[in-house]
Formats: sequence, C-alpha cells, structure tokens
Amino acid sequence: MATTSFTRKSIGADPTEPALTPPSVSDTQTTFAKKPKVVGAAKSRKRDIPEGLWTKCPKCETMIFDKELDENAKVCPKCQHHFPIGARERIHSLVETCTFEEIDAEMTSVDVLGFTGVGTYTSKLTAYKKSTMLKDAVLTGFGKVGAHKLGLGVMDFSFLGGSMGSVVGEKLTRLIERATEKCLPVVIISSSGGARMYEGMFSLMQMAKTSAALAYHAKARLPYISVLTHPTTAGVMASYASLGDLILAEPGAMIGFAGPRVIKDTTQAELPPGFQTSEFLLDHGLIDAIVPRKEMKERLVGYLDFLTLRQQNGAVATAA
Ligand SMILES: [Zn+2]
Repeated sequence: MATTSFTRKSIGADPTEPALTPPSVSDTQTTFAKKPKVVGAAKSRKRDIPEGLWTKCPKCETMIFDKELDENAKVCPKCQHHFPIGARERIHSLVETCTFEEIDAEMTSVDVLGFTGVGTYTSKLTAYKKSTMLKDAVLTGFGKVGAHKLGLGVMDFSFLGGSMGSVVGEKLTRLIERATEKCLPVVIISSSGGARMYEGMFSLMQMAKTSAALAYHAKARLPYISVLTHPTTAGVMASYASLGDLILAEPGAMIGFAGPRVIKDTTQAELPPGFQTSEFLLDHGLIDAIVPRKEMKERLVGYLDFLTLRQQNGAVATAA
C-alpha cells in the first residue's frame, strides 16, 4: 500500500474558503507539502523534538505522537478534533479487506481552456499528482462495507482543494450509473472547496451531470448516503453532497456554499456562533446526523441495513 500519500501533516492551516479563485502562491506552496511542515521544526525553541514525529492539535494544542494519530484514524485522542485524512486511508478504514475495486483509475484531467493564472493548470496538475500520488481529487470503486456491496466515491482535499473538475464529475457520474445498473447503494464522502475554476464552465456542468445521475439512481429506489467532511463547500455542496437520502457529517466540519467571510461582507450582518459547522447545520435540519470518524463504518452498515430492507424483503418474496 502506498503509505507515502498519507504522510501530509496538518497543523490546522486548512484553507476554509471555497476554491472559486486560484489559490495564491503561498497557498499553493503550503498545499504542495512536498516536505510536510511539522510543528517542532522551528529551530530556536523546539530543537529537541525530532522532525516528523509529532503533530500539534490545532484545537486543544496537545502534541500528538504521529503513530498514535494514525492509529486513531487521524482523530485527536484528547479533544476528538478530526484531522484531514487521505482518500485511500479513508477507503481502507471503511471497506472490508481486499474487497475494493477501483474504477476509472487512470482518468486524468486535461487543460481544455489553456488556463494560465499564477501558474498553468497543466503544471498544477503535474505537481499535485506528484505530491499526492493521486490522479485527481476523487477515488471511485465498488467494495463491501459490512455485508453491503456498494459504490463508493471518496474525495481527497489534498488534490487541488478537492475541487470538482470534469474528471471528478465524470468519475462520480460513472460510479452512480454503474451502481444503478447493478442495483447497488452509493456512498460519497465529500471534501471539497467547490468547482474547479481552471475548467470554467466545464466544471460547473458537473453539478448538473452528477445530480442527474443521482436522480436516475433515486428513481430506481436505491439508497444514496452523502458524508460531508471538513470542508465541503460551494459547487460540491450545491450538487451531489446535499442530495443524499441521508446526509451525514463528521464533527466540526465546515459545510456551506459561500464562505463565512463572503456572506458577512455581503449581508453586513454578524454571523451566529458556530455558523456553517456540522453542529449548527444539524440543529437547523440540513443534515441528518453527525458521525465521528471511528464510528462511521458501523453507522453506515446500520443505515444501509435499514435502507436496503425493501430490497432484501423483495428478494425474499421473489425467492419464495
Ligand atoms: Zn486535540
């Protein structure tokens, strides 16, 4: 297993604004994280802490041994802060061993618009492919969670802010369409800054495409569970992420359409405390449940048991 893609450390500096504008040079440099910046690397004060062994929790400021953090599904053992987790690592934590078969693994984005901003789109794609060991911002495939075979799509924020371009949209659409053909449930775990502006209108079209595929999936009366993780915003939240029969979220995740700063500037109003967090949205009825990462698999199995009851009964009735 390629463990190299999981070594990126977070010190709580995740960008929280939707990626509707090109990342600035400084953002890009930090996100590339060729050599993860580790707390304790500062020469003057913490010279005695070996590099790459500890991560500081941004919420409770506890220094956590990296191995302990990895073993705890990247959740702070003291305050339960959920650190970012890579797509492969998440799939590994959810599906039964050796049951996941990835689809469309070789699909890669092309620079249809010849986009040039701070850097060219092509150069960014090359850099992110190298730093994340991923081909794009989503992994899709079929696997088993408990006894349930399902279509699973998992986004990875470390690839261009998890932005949705043509490849993310197409891979998810194919996943949903194949799941519909096979009469299987779909689970999509989102983590995204929104549509990929390097692809302009082509990225916005993915919102309609994925939503349409989900409409056919729903018409076939098959369950779709959407799991929102930190952060899920903009075009992704405005399409497939908010269309689940059940919408779950990880604790403390930032979820919304526009970022809080944009809303505050536009409305000129003070935003309520905890605005756009999972907890706030649960209180206001936008999501159905907050599920800690370590309980996610068990809870998904429970929900799928319930949601596929009709199919199971139908199968029994047909067999009888
Ligand atoms: Zn903590």
